Amino acid sequence: MRINSDRKVWIDLIYLDNAATTKPCTEAVDAAVEAMTVNFGNPSSLHRAGLNAQLAVDEARKLIADSIGADNSSVYFTSGATESNNLALRGASAAYGKKCRKIVISAVEHASIDETASDLEKKDFEVIRVSPRDDGRFYAADFVNACDENTCLISMMLVNNETGYILPVKEVFNAIKRRFPHIITHCDCVQAYMKVPVKANALGADLISLSGHKIHGIKGVGVLYIKKGIRVIPVVTGGKQEKGIRSGTESVPLICAMGAAVKKLAPTINERFKRVSELKACLLGRLADIDGIAVNSPDDGSPYVVNISVIGRRSEIMLHFLESKEIYVSSGSACSKGQQSGVLGQFGISGKRADSAVRISMTAETTEDEIDALANALREGIEKVRG
Ligand code: PMP
Repeated sequence: MRINSDRKVWIDLIYLDNAATTKPCTEAVDAAVEAMTVNFGNPSSLHRAGLNAQLAVDEARKLIADSIGADNSSVYFTSGATESNNLALRGASAAYGKKCRKIVISAVEHASIDETASDLEKKDFEVIRVSPRDDGRFYAADFVNACDENTCLISMMLVNNETGYILPVKEVFNAIKRRFPHIITHCDCVQAYMKVPVKANALGADLISLSGHKIHGIKGVGVLYIKKGIRVIPVVTGGKQEKGIRSGTESVPLICAMGAAVKKLAPTINERFKRVSELKACLLGRLADIDGIAVNSPDDGSPYVVNISVIGRRSEIMLHFLESKEIYVSSGSACSKGQQSGVLGQFGISGKRADSAVRISMTAETTEDEIDALANALREGIEKVRG
């Protein structure tokens, strides 16, 4: 890997792992720098420096609230979506789980939901994991049938991080709210936010998790949207920041960076979706010319994530071959650190095909030339790499 003379930009790098993290945009970096240099006060301080920091945090809060069609007062900053997901599940189950001891989740959730649900299982909650049917698709009826009077919470993601599959969240939440109005609905929108429209009311979500670093913000900041009137018992207690829902001095630089990224991206969601859909079509076209590649993502999934299997070549081996060509992809969910998460198996992709899965995740800035380079490298890798 080479870095140019002012050490700011990687040269020759083809970065196709944007579902793991994105490069912060200039606007986000500038906002963070301003918050670290000029506007470095503690938002809780009573002097002007504190007030200015509070105003900056609230400006970011408004940008994010507006982007999901919510009220400013419903947006709570956290250290990232892992914490938002923990707060949603632990906080809502603590508030509503005294009598209702059942939690329903999809079987393809990110580890920050799945592991948290497993932990709640140890604390005597019953957790039902709803799987896709044999055709690899989720059906709203299966979620509704999994819920009952004893259910306190349902959590499902909007876009799956490994395959790009779009779950029928709106259909499920609206059906559940009709039959069981007492059930709290949570949606992990991390891989959907700023890529497809995410509107709290349309989704029927009481709680929504978002992450800064997946949208060209900076790592270490996220949001939990909490609909007005919904109770969440705090997980982190202390100085009562974020109205006591999440204590701890707000990370003003990271929050401002997330706000700046949203300001930049929110107006172009549809335009970028169209562009990335063209890129996905281009990628699939190039891959169709190569023997031994199977596509694991559905045609109607988010175009930002394309999961393929290079039959007979283990993921890590192919990943490192591509890396030797300065092309960065992922072998699955980045958060599982090389461990298979079982999510692909849920979608009917198992055994050797799952072992050879490669996730390509693009942005609107990805180019056709980069896709050509990837296709050529895959072709070469299939010839040169064994095992
Ligand atoms: N949910 C999903 C769907 C994700 O893809 C991720 C990040 N891999 C997370 C939650 C966790 O987000 P964060 O890195 O902000 O903790």
